[in-house]
Amino acid sequence: PAQVPGAGVIAGGWDPELDEQRALARGGKELLAGIEAEERASTGIGSLKVRYNKVFGYFIEVSRANLDRVPEGYERRQTLANAERFVTPELKELEAKILAAEEGAAARDRRLFEQLVSELSTHAHRISVTAAAAARLDVHAAFADRARRWAYCRPVMTEEAGLAVTEGRHPVLEELQREPKFVPNDCRLDPVSSQIVLLTGPNMGGKSTYLRQCALIALMAHAGSFVPAAEAVIGLTDRIFTRVGASDMLARGESTFMVEMSETENILHHATPRSLVILDEVGRGTATFDGLSLAWAIVEHLHDRAERAALVLFATHYHELTELGRMLPRFVNRSMAVKEWRGSILFLHRVVDGPADHSYGIHVARLAGVPEEVCVRASEVLANIERHEITVIDDAATQPPAGSRLNQLDLFRPAADEIADRLRRLEIDSLTPIAALNLLAELKRKVHDGGS
Ligand code: ADP
Repeated sequence: PAQVPGAGVIAGGWDPELDEQRALARGGKELLAGIEAEERASTGIGSLKVRYNKVFGYFIEVSRANLDRVPEGYERRQTLANAERFVTPELKELEAKILAAEEGAAARDRRLFEQLVSELSTHAHRISVTAAAAARLDVHAAFADRARRWAYCRPVMTEEAGLAVTEGRHPVLEELQREPKFVPNDCRLDPVSSQIVLLTGPNMGGKSTYLRQCALIALMAHAGSFVPAAEAVIGLTDRIFTRVGASDMLARGESTFMVEMSETENILHHATPRSLVILDEVGRGTATFDGLSLAWAIVEHLHDRAERAALVLFATHYHELTELGRMLPRFVNRSMAVKEWRGSILFLHRVVDGPADHSYGIHVARLAGVPEEVCVRASEVLANIERHEITVIDDAATQPPAGSRLNQLDLFRPAADEIADRLRRLEIDSLTPIAALNLLAELKRKVHDGGS
């Protein structure tokens, strides 16, 4: 029992004295049942009962209707609305015996327990060392068992930062998921050419699984285990940072977005070029453009700040982020392969090079059974939005390929783009003061019209 001592900790059959006390207490109760039967017979009161409460101990209860049959020797203890309670010398004697036996058993139980504890405490060191050894053995046996059963490989650990996994699997999902079989995937992260991998693809495509499996493989290798992969070369990692679903925090009164941002803050302040960072969606908890802008700036920060240049796996719905592939040399686009088939999509769960075509959200909604008219309408709205977006992108494409970051960022600010272009081409030396003022007024008007 959780509550000790004296609560019946010591098993029966261990200590004869304790067994005897317990038998007495138990036997007393059997005797009580005997007394009840005897008193019923001698008084002729069929409803007579022997009972117990904490205030009066054991007593005989007789209903009001039978009071005239109560014999001389009964001693009145308490009067109730419908009954009277009595004791007899015999009952008192038995009560004393039962209580003494119960107390004796509890005391003996306590004493034995304390003896045991004090004896054990002289061996505390040996016991804890043995427990630690058993725990170690348990861990290693589990590592060995899984490595053998699931054909894990022995990872090669290197001094250089990087992660090169061939045919990696998720250690839990590969076991749970029998049909269809789990699809293995490679992972390549290195500080020179693929420091940041952006993973796009539809919901249910397998992005989260892939991110987690890569982190788990790195973690298992550092713990000394074989890993679920055909081959793995793993650079020594100082920390694995994760920013993944935070719905469980909601119960603690923190908004999802706030949690998202404080986790991101932690990463941006503490990641090092030796860290592995797993970002499963950043910026979803706020308005689209807010979130997208934040995600964009976070990727740039991790890419450009040498002291924060961790290896990063970033899964996102923000398709716009794939544009970063054109600007950041160590940024790589990968995606979850899907196959469109008879108006539906098949998830292949395979990671392939390049960005996803689009996000397939409407397909997934349809698969989930969202009403067809809603899906059709959503397709129309999407087409409108995309048409607008395409003109924006075309604008950007006509810009001189200056290769500047600003140029690309202006994807979201077409008016500013045009103004920047005008300014770039402007020859100030040949400008009269009045022409300069006119130009300034015109540009200002544009800024207003463009809503920038
Ligand atoms: P996403 O993050 O893209 O929405 P998940 O990682 O949550 O997708 O994966 C959705 C489901 O797809 C998983 O629950 C799992 O059943 C299946 N899945 C994911 N990865 C694989 C894989 N490599 N092989 C087979 N099934 C997978």
